[in-house]
Amino acid sequence: MIDLRSDTVTKPCAQMRQVMAAAEVGDDVFGDDPTVNALQQKAAELTGHEAALFAPSGTQSNLLALLAHCQRGDEYIVGQDAHTYKYEGGGAAVLGSIQPQPIEFEKDGSLSLELVKRKIKPNDHHYARTRLLSIENTVSGKPLPMAYLSDARKFCDEHGLGLHLDGARVFNAAVYHQVAVKDITSKMDSVSICLSKGLGTPLGSVLCGSKEFIHEAHKWRKMLGGGMRQAGIVAAAGLYALENNISRLVEDHENAAWLANELASIEGLKVINQFTNMVFVEYLGELTAADFANRLFEQGINICAGEQIRLVLHKDISRQDCQTVVDTIKRIL
Ligand SMILES: *Cc1c(COP(=O)(O)O)cnc(C)c1O
Repeated sequence: MIDLRSDTVTKPCAQMRQVMAAAEVGDDVFGDDPTVNALQQKAAELTGHEAALFAPSGTQSNLLALLAHCQRGDEYIVGQDAHTYKYEGGGAAVLGSIQPQPIEFEKDGSLSLELVKRKIKPNDHHYARTRLLSIENTVSGKPLPMAYLSDARKFCDEHGLGLHLDGARVFNAAVYHQVAVKDITSKMDSVSICLSKGLGTPLGSVLCGSKEFIHEAHKWRKMLGGGMRQAGIVAAAGLYALENNISRLVEDHENAAWLANELASIEGLKVINQFTNMVFVEYLGELTAADFANRLFEQGINICAGEQIRLVLHKDISRQDCQTVVDTIKRIL
């Protein structure tokens, strides 16, 4: 099966499984797991932050950040279609009594700082306290412009806001811009990175920030039940991924660009965009989008078809697979 639904479908490779099996472990609730500690240190160094905390998922890592930045009755400004607003079950509101103020993304995936400014609440008893700006990079495969990150930093400093980055795919952004990831992430007060997407681990995310911030996040992780014991077995996969799987993301971007280019010449498909490892396509053919997806599935290609089709490239998809996808689509259409 050629699975293009997401980069979360990647499976740990043999070497990754080997380092997992051989990992030195201890009880991480005592702070005793050397592999977890090494992963946290490595993630902090890479992102240009003082400290880091391993979390079982990106959703939990983002929630820890929101809870550590905001108190009950505070507000965060966030994209209408951002993961930290739309796709995390309303956790910040349910568990933190934190109010989201969602706004539409600009075309490039940024949040207009002009618009954010207008949404900041006055210091008055009518309003929640606006505390945080939460951004995402990449956002639906789009890398935020580097200049925007500096502008957002300056803006948050001027307005007394914290700045959180949902960096589930920030390594794709760094590879796209050909910069070190810390050139992006060190401008943030906090960043959550996912190890389980393009980096190919079975699970895990890391939240990075100042020592004080991570101390606070650690307490919240305990309250969310996210303390783990010999977690070095999974942290070892994360360490392996940070050491081996970042620079290879360029292959996924090249495969995505190749696929976008090939699909653009097929009648019945319209390529919407491709920047990093995702290709967005509109299906204009005679079958329903669902039937089109079913036909592909019968031929061994798994995609999610909604209003738009999102094809996600990752380490388990080769150029040959991409060729098979193109040939199969041509045959079906
Ligand atoms: C996947 C993802 C997350 C975290 O999701 P988990 O499935 O909880 O690891 C956060 N933000 C974005 C943009 C994501 O794509």
